[in-house]
Amino acid sequence: MTGRIIKNYSLGEVADFFKSYGEKEYRARQLFNWLYERNASSFQEMTDFSKELRNRLAGDFILSPLKLVENLKSAKDGTEKFLFSTIDNNFIESVLIRNDTTDDGRLTVCISSQIGCPMGCRFCSTSKIGFKRNLETGEILDQLCQIRSITGLRNNNIVFMGMGEPFMNYDNVMKAADIMNYSFGFHISVRKITISTAGLTTEIERFIDEKRPYNLAISLNDTLPEKRIINMPVEKKYPFEDISELLKRKFPVSRNRVTIEYVMRRDNVSIDDARRLNKIFRYGRIKLNLIPLNSGESGFEAPSPEDAERFIKELVLMNVPLSVRKSFGSDIEGACGQLSGRMYGEIHAVQ
Ligand code: SAH
Repeated sequence: MTGRIIKNYSLGEVADFFKSYGEKEYRARQLFNWLYERNASSFQEMTDFSKELRNRLAGDFILSPLKLVENLKSAKDGTEKFLFSTIDNNFIESVLIRNDTTDDGRLTVCISSQIGCPMGCRFCSTSKIGFKRNLETGEILDQLCQIRSITGLRNNNIVFMGMGEPFMNYDNVMKAADIMNYSFGFHISVRKITISTAGLTTEIERFIDEKRPYNLAISLNDTLPEKRIINMPVEKKYPFEDISELLKRKFPVSRNRVTIEYVMRRDNVSIDDARRLNKIFRYGRIKLNLIPLNSGESGFEAPSPEDAERFIKELVLMNVPLSVRKSFGSDIEGACGQLSGRMYGEIHAVQ
């Protein structure tokens, strides 16, 4: 079934289909243009293809593997959340963040890479729904296609920070990112595509060694290993200390922009936390991104504004390069850690 999703295929693979049809290879570029630039919603729209070719493509392939189920818009900041169903009746969410007026002209789409998530982070709603499967390349890309055609907006920034752990779905995520970057399609700059991981050391190393040009974000969230292991079970197999060593070792050769993400909670913003964090930023070009906690039903509490301010001040005094993420879309459960595929207050079929 899913093998027939046209958006699963790279330009080279599509060119091979056309060759097997007895068509010229340049048709592949035309098709990419229809899919990712002109956002076609049916093969019949592709009027520079013969009727016969259009019918053949429509018979062989599925154009859009996702169906919009619900579209919520934040009254506070215009953030939009999209609930999509997949062909096999699962649910994923994506978020459009209008940070264009606040940051450097960005219009961000936050993309999901899996149905549910197996990471089990205790502060994140996605982990509560369990894990179903990896998304196909075409399902990753269709989130962007659909959001563009629903809103009529052309976003210029992509973050793989929706549902799931992108590095558990490495091949499909990289293929989707490469297609987002192609000049025949979305043409999104490599500097505007960020892959966020809970910290799978093996894939981080692979990502750097393969010279993937995208930004890398690594979620740390606790400075003590014994605390991190409780809140982020991934620490057990992949201790953050190893990641830190790896980054140190690879810095002279790696060209990636690396961000360490840190969700601020009441219990992880002490002066000692700031000092331990500072050690990670003594070398290399890493930046710290502080994220306000969206507590949801996690049982975790956000720090008081005074505690958060003291923590940030301490880090600034130590010259840690940092930014503080503004929270968007919290009133529609579209902010970080709030994506659960829930509609009208009811949890959907992901178990
Ligand atoms: N699995 C990947 C990407 C998805 S989570 C990862 O772990 O990086 C994207 C970001 O949201 C991560 O930095 C994560 O730590 C953060 N996050 C998770 N739950 C959150 C919450 N309740 N409030 C704020 N940020 C949260």
